[in-house]
Amino acid sequence: MKLVLATHNQGKVQELRAILEPNGFELAGYDGPEPVEDGTSFVENALIKARAAFASTGLPSLADDSGIAVEILGGSPGIFTAIWSGTKDNVANRQLLLAQLKDISEEHRQASFVCTIALVTAETEICFTGIWPGRVAFEERGTNGHGYDPVFIPEGFEVTAAELEPEVKNAISHRAQAVSALVTYLKSL
Ligand code: IMP
Repeated sequence: MKLVLATHNQGKVQELRAILEPNGFELAGYDGPEPVEDGTSFVENALIKARAAFASTGLPSLADDSGIAVEILGGSPGIFTAIWSGTKDNVANRQLLLAQLKDISEEHRQASFVCTIALVTAETEICFTGIWPGRVAFEERGTNGHGYDPVFIPEGFEVTAAELEPEVKNAISHRAQAVSALVTYLKSL
């Protein structure tokens, strides 16, 4: 089966291709016009992007949406993770989150990384969501990974996601869980 991934990020295409190809699935990137992401959840936004790619290519289409949900902020930043500080600057986004939680004790700093992957085909629309629980750190630590990794301490660890070896993160993360569920589904077709 040939699939397309709706993203302008070649890194994401290569990462997912490396997992799908050994399982017999061909993956191409699709970087057509980006639809307005006006959904109110990770699921809605992933579906909006996958539907747009399907409408344009007619091929089974994948899209992902992800972010961090902090309990004491009522699940925010959530779908606003990438622009939490009003810009796409990762440093500014992380620093704002740390400032918002500066007086919050360790026991109330629970957060989860969430990743939803949507698959849209002629026959069906289905979403796979992975959740990686943990807590927000008090300060940035580590240089691996990207985005909010330096301020996220996964459950069961005392280091941030940016201090984990990439192989460890990639085996257990929210994205790993969503991709694993997607692959199980595709193999069952
Ligand atoms: P996107 O869905 O890949 O555009 O990511 C949305 C936002 O969530 C961006 O600000 C990313 O930095 C953040 N994010 C998603 N996944 C991760 C992760 O694994 N580590 C750190 N930040 C992430």
